[in-house]
Amino acid sequence: MSEGATSAPARLGAFAADLYHCADCGYCVDAVWVERGIDHVCPTIGHHAPIASYSGRGFIAAARAWVEGAALDRDVLAERVFACTGCGNCEQVCPIGLRPAQVGAALREELVATGHAPASVDKLRAAMRTHGNPHARPAAERGAWAGELSFAAQDATVLYAPGCACAYTAPGEAGAVVALMARAGERVAFRGDADRCCGAPLGEAGFVDDAAYAEQRLAHDVSAVCVVTSGLECWPAWHRALGADTPVFSFSAWLLAALESGRLRIAAPPSLRVHAFDACASRRRGAQSGTPDPLREVLARMGAVVVNDARFAAAAVCCGAAGTMAGLAPDSAQRMAQARLVDVAHADVLVASDTRCGTHLAAAADAGTAPVVGLAAFVQQFCTIGGDG
Ligand code: SF4
Ligand code: SF4
Repeated sequence: MSEGATSAPARLGAFAADLYHCADCGYCVDAVWVERGIDHVCPTIGHHAPIASYSGRGFIAAARAWVEGAALDRDVLAERVFACTGCGNCEQVCPIGLRPAQVGAALREELVATGHAPASVDKLRAAMRTHGNPHARPAAERGAWAGELSFAAQDATVLYAPGCACAYTAPGEAGAVVALMARAGERVAFRGDADRCCGAPLGEAGFVDDAAYAEQRLAHDVSAVCVVTSGLECWPAWHRALGADTPVFSFSAWLLAALESGRLRIAAPPSLRVHAFDACASRRRGAQSGTPDPLREVLARMGAVVVNDARFAAAAVCCGAAGTMAGLAPDSAQRMAQARLVDVAHADVLVASDTRCGTHLAAAADAGTAPVVGLAAFVQQFCTIGGDG
């Protein structure tokens, strides 16, 4: 279905400078620059559809056409832009600092607003509205991970918000986080039945109004001196909702602070070869930007032997866990994960501080792959723990 000229979409108009400065160089499509640690860029181009219109460059061309009133098949465009993981790698490599990933996000918002979201994306919103999580799991199971753990009923020093991925797909990681925080002397609170999604999956999928509503509920319902979340994709929403006066930490950032202050002393086994999984969350820009994820600093403080090169961290190609990719094309998302697991052959264990990445990678791993564990589970299962707490 082709659709003719319409008024210029406001969300795309905000990116006019990007649309008209793009040099069509193709770096964001498939750049390889070994000295800079760049070994391809876009997971969608590499493992889903090797066609430029699926890349950041393609998003800029499509947005320009839409703004100029050209006829566009919006359903075809939707199949392309919802196959983007939102990893932000294209923005990392653009030599003139353009924002192709954010243009892609704006296209998703416009397509949602005009009723052109793919069926898998509409299903995601239905799952959120019915169950309150993107996994379509019963809301009543959200706190099952907490089991018999005890939490502070008053005078809590930290509220733990596991995030949907950790609560539903990595219950052991959530329990290990709480145990470590208690070991460091924190009085940990958990909201139990009142714990709910921050809206990040809705924002990634372009449902900006639904995402804003979820954030407003956080701001309205939550009062805490400090929040720690295992969801790296959740951190920006919590940070926006609670404002600058309430510190919000990713778990890796909290752990680094606990190590630096001496509240915890953790030693990794000296002979264990660790693959630090560098997630995309900390390099995204735009609405989902800014998550602090000092995984490598944490591992260095523990004395861990990290065997994968930090130079490649800044431009590592996404594992396919984020955004709407896994729902739209699960086979492609699995190939993305398998591509990231190739490097792990030289390690004894892969440590992922991004729970969503960790569970996605673990599902794609075969019997010969090193174990994939979350950061707290790594500490609990492999390290020696001491502390003053
Ligand atoms: S954000 Fe990631 S998946 Fe999307 S176009 Fe850019 S590099 Fe490709
Ligand atoms: S967005 Fe940047 S990297 Fe991509 S084609 Fe345009 S100028 Fe090149």
